[in-house]
Amino acid sequence: MGVTTRNWAGNQRCVPTAVHEPTSTDGVAAIVRTAAQVGQRVKVIGGAHSFTDVAMTDGHLLSLDAMDRVIAVGGPDGRDVTVQAGIRLFELNEQLARRGLAMPNLGDIDRQSIAGAMSTATHGTGAGLGNIASMVVGLELVTGDGTIRRSDESNDPDLLRVARVGLGALGIVTEVTLRCVPAFKLHAVETIEPLAKVLADFDQVMHSTDHVEFYWFPGARRVQVKRNTRTDAPLAAQSRVGYIRDKWIGENLAFGTVCRVGRRFPSAAPKIAKLITSAASERDFVDRSDKIFCSPRRVRFLEMEYGVPLPAVPEALDRIASMVKSLPFPPMFPIEVRVSQGDDIPLSTANGRASGWIAVHQYIGAPYEAYFQAVEQIMNDHVGRPHWGKLHFQTAATLADRYPEWHVFQSARADLDPTGTFANAYTDRVLGPAHVPSGVSS
Ligand SMILES: Cc1cc2nc3c(=O)[nH]c(=O)nc-3n(C[C@H](O)[C@H](O)[C@H](O)COP(=O)(O)OP(=O)(O)OC[C@H]3O[C@@H](n4cnc5c(N)ncnc54)[C@H](O)[C@@H]3O)c2cc1C
Repeated sequence: MGVTTRNWAGNQRCVPTAVHEPTSTDGVAAIVRTAAQVGQRVKVIGGAHSFTDVAMTDGHLLSLDAMDRVIAVGGPDGRDVTVQAGIRLFELNEQLARRGLAMPNLGDIDRQSIAGAMSTATHGTGAGLGNIASMVVGLELVTGDGTIRRSDESNDPDLLRVARVGLGALGIVTEVTLRCVPAFKLHAVETIEPLAKVLADFDQVMHSTDHVEFYWFPGARRVQVKRNTRTDAPLAAQSRVGYIRDKWIGENLAFGTVCRVGRRFPSAAPKIAKLITSAASERDFVDRSDKIFCSPRRVRFLEMEYGVPLPAVPEALDRIASMVKSLPFPPMFPIEVRVSQGDDIPLSTANGRASGWIAVHQYIGAPYEAYFQAVEQIMNDHVGRPHWGKLHFQTAATLADRYPEWHVFQSARADLDPTGTFANAYTDRVLGPAHVPSGVSS
């Protein structure tokens, strides 16, 4: 009997045939070759922070946790950093800081592996910035028959373009080169503002500085707006006491407690939402960029997030506000709204368009399906694209038309993994079955 593997939220689990911890690209290639020869499937798991079953398998599961080194720093400005694909973002951030460098943007947490974050198009917020995959300027990939391929902007750039967001279905990424920026500080200002005004001036608000996001409890009339601005001002980090009070006690411990009460007594949930909104305070501090971008997340939840064209966001939020009134069980988490630039990566959720991101959450163990499905209906009307690592109910049939370069991805998949070595239940659902050439059994 194999060992059960679970994701962070605990809503996905699998029992792989075998778990491997290779220490080199050659080691990865040997595992893939051996499995492919006997028709077995292979999947890599990164930080297991996806809410979908994207990283689950009943075949061979690889962890690249032992492949976590910085390999080289180079490139035209000395800011291209090549790392092994298993490095976690928190370790990467430390390694970059030691070299006077940083990632241009990050999401809310730093527990993911770089390859896992890249492969699902993980993003932060910033109208002038792309997702993590768009920062990748080179990579090394082990394909379905165990071949090792390298690509960068001048050598096989088509492979680079498509393999940056691959859902693990094109191959195993073993090295990644990131175009970093000089280390920078952020001035974080958190304010409470009227929802109506934020929505009326949505475009202006989201472009008002480098990184803007807001949190809104459906039903509440105020939102918490977080604006992070690049600055040369001296560090004015939150005191240790303030950090523990806000991040650990406020955002995690106290929040977890009220969520448990809300799950037990759903009728109290709207009042709880109001209480949490009114408890949100205004804050102002300066810290190292990654310390501002990323926070600890101790309260477990489920999440769905959609990218829609920027102008669609206010109407979509209005419709969610009306819809939640008829839900049998109220949401106990705020909705998070972010923005990002478009890119040219075929399966990136931001392909070809600037995106507004609408993320809905529910406390673990509380009913979420009716809420998420109703939000998804609204997102469908705006040609929404679901985050690949977060819950959704789409299939290849409903997604294909939302990606102008869907065929580019599918033809790369047929080329790089013709027999479906890297397929799993999730890729079968959202990409369709791998193309199997005639005469080869899957
Ligand atoms: C608390 C929390 C906060 C989050 N915040 C954000 C956020 O702010 N923004 C955002 O966009 N997302 C966010 N996410 C989602 C998360 O960033 C993605 O799901 C991401 O993919 C997780 O990275 P991981 O390393 O855990 O990958 P996993 O979940 O382990 O794997 C994801 C996919 O990547 C593939 N993969 C992993 N390594 C490789 C490799 N070496 N080669 C090929 N394929 C590989 C896996 O096979 C799988 O298909 C959050 C998730 C959680 C739980």
